[in-house]
Amino acid sequence: MAGHGFNTSSEMQGADVAVVNTCSFLDSAREEAEQWIRDAARLKRNGGLKGLVVAGCLPALERNRLFEDFPEVDAIVGPRDRLKIADACRAALEKPGRRVSFLGSSDSLVRRLHPRAVSTGRHTAYLKIAEGCNNGCSYCLIPRIRGDMVSRSMKSLVDEASLLAKCGIRELSLIAQDTTNYGVDLRGRPRLALLLKRLSRVEGIDWMRLLYTHPAHWSDEIMDAFAGIPELCKYADVPIQHVSDRVLRLMRRRTTQSSLIGILEKIRSTIPGISIRTTVMVGFPGEGEREFTELLGFLKYFRFDHLGAFVYSREENTVAMRLPHQVPEKVKEERLHRIMELQQEISRSRNAALVGREVTILVDSVEASATRGVGRTEGQAPEIDGVVHVSGAGLRSGQFLRVLVEGFNEYDLFGKTLS
Ligand code: SF4
Repeated sequence: MAGHGFNTSSEMQGADVAVVNTCSFLDSAREEAEQWIRDAARLKRNGGLKGLVVAGCLPALERNRLFEDFPEVDAIVGPRDRLKIADACRAALEKPGRRVSFLGSSDSLVRRLHPRAVSTGRHTAYLKIAEGCNNGCSYCLIPRIRGDMVSRSMKSLVDEASLLAKCGIRELSLIAQDTTNYGVDLRGRPRLALLLKRLSRVEGIDWMRLLYTHPAHWSDEIMDAFAGIPELCKYADVPIQHVSDRVLRLMRRRTTQSSLIGILEKIRSTIPGISIRTTVMVGFPGEGEREFTELLGFLKYFRFDHLGAFVYSREENTVAMRLPHQVPEKVKEERLHRIMELQQEISRSRNAALVGREVTILVDSVEASATRGVGRTEGQAPEIDGVVHVSGAGLRSGQFLRVLVEGFNEYDLFGKTLS
């Protein structure tokens, strides 16, 4: 949009056209997206907007219904068509009432270098290395919404990383629905380790972080990359979802309890000091008290550094929707609460052990006085993990600092700069 002469703002008030970028992965996400569309539609009816564009996954799932339900929507743009956002905005402004759809562009659009503006601050950015997923977990709508996995070419990713580094980006978080499978559609086998090596040569990128790995697709090559690439943060995001063999089979996760334990222990033992994040889902159909206790016991034993827990959401058009033994909502919530309570204890004791230690942080934001700021260690990913609150003199966002940890709470650390 910036390249097409638009100024962007995160506020709808005062804008000519609103783009509602949507997620439709869960019922709750669709509800939230529709609430935003309703708000924008109301603003448009009252003359506060000239155009309304809906982008992202909701148009991919509900292409017909969106125009029917929201007469104020001028254009829709699918998840693989984001280079058409500016065209959609222009159409909404110049041809009001003519409803335009940009849906289903070819994969080549996914593969090539995308011009982009960084929306995450000036020193950290996400790098999307692939789009779509072939894993077919029984509860998940993503393959239906986003299609099969399409990896971007290594060249386009290195070019994009170089462009970002020139704009001042120092940390890259690699994302995809399954980063560990990167390249399987290009040369018939995963090529993440090679991609990491190539990206590490991009001048100016000091930290690279791997998000959304799949436990079934970790390889020795990826583990070796941690030893050979100093820029690769000692951080692994490995969503396990569950540990009960029965539940994993019903989830179609391509893992078993023993394969999960094997890979997680190998990651911890071959990459000393690594922080491991996981995600688990409670209340999946067939998860009885016995299976849940198995999960709780494993979390207590393995003590993940970071954990996200979610309740299973019964989504239409998924295999899991038709499974028997659905778990009542009240039970799901109670299990979620038990898991979060446990993780708070683990996180607190892990943070307590860091008091008195020196850590390196990347400063994300600084108060006007430049004496207080917030940063992250290599073991803390942006937006999802805890942070380090730091005090010192002359702090600048985007700088790396050595910090002495002096305090903690469940999720965050507190410290002062070391001169
Ligand atoms: S790996 Fe992730 S995105 Fe792919 S089907 Fe499973 S849950 Fe969905």
